[in-house]
Amino acid sequence: MAQEQALAMIETKDLSKYYGSFVAIKDISFSIPRGQIVAFLGPNGAGKTTTMKILSGFLAPSEGKAAIAGLDIATRRLEAARKLGYLPENGPLYDNMTPLELLKFFGEARKLDKAYLNQRLETVVSQCAIQEVLEKPVSKLSRGYRQRVGLAQALLHDPEVLIMDEPTAGLDPNQIREFRTNIVELSRNKTIMISTHILQEAEAVANRILLIHEGRLVFDGGPDELKQNGTIEDKFYSLTNYGRVMPKEEEQV
Ligand code: ATP
Repeated sequence: MAQEQALAMIETKDLSKYYGSFVAIKDISFSIPRGQIVAFLGPNGAGKTTTMKILSGFLAPSEGKAAIAGLDIATRRLEAARKLGYLPENGPLYDNMTPLELLKFFGEARKLDKAYLNQRLETVVSQCAIQEVLEKPVSKLSRGYRQRVGLAQALLHDPEVLIMDEPTAGLDPNQIREFRTNIVELSRNKTIMISTHILQEAEAVANRILLIHEGRLVFDGGPDELKQNGTIEDKFYSLTNYGRVMPKEEEQV
């Protein structure tokens, strides 16, 4: 049991990705134990999506390792995929399908037993509140519903780990609130990593923050630590502006 708790559920070690000579991420190392909700913060182009795509097996790293529940993505990708629910930026949605067709399609692709798939369908449809839109083409769904269908897809096989890339982008404040409630509920038995630009979001849901800037990890700690000696906005600014600290108002000329 103690060993089980110590196991890193999401882990990277010296992870780097180059696109030609461009360095997208460099030497990213972190280890996320079971039960944490981690916000992956960073400005545009920092390397969040690249890191998440590597963790979900969609992209191969140039150097270093990534693992889900102790399973190396490079060598045990399928086993790792069984433990992982991944919600990509903009959802994994096929516009010409209905949510029901889409969920069945993913369930079959994941080779879920028919009885188990039916049981899981019932659970995720209710958990993500998508009953009303099950038979509508995905192309006709609002942004909020598309996101809920994406989340239902990511949860279908009841993964232990959930990785979501900017899941609240484009949602209205009520939808964001709903989403946060859902995440807190899910975190009871899942390890969760969410990328976001929104500092308040990170503060509201996460018990740990990883901040990435220009492909490098520049902060790893709790939200309170990030707020020490200022606001979370101040610290974000100083860490993502080449280490320059914002002058205090009275020091400005
Ligand atoms: P955003 O918040 O804007 O989504 P991000 O933090 O998710 O950004 P990434 O999408 O991981 O950042 O991109 C990191 C860097 O790598 C960016 O400069 C991006 O332009 C570059 N990049 C991403 N994919 C490719 C690619 N296929 N070829 C070349 N460069 C790429």
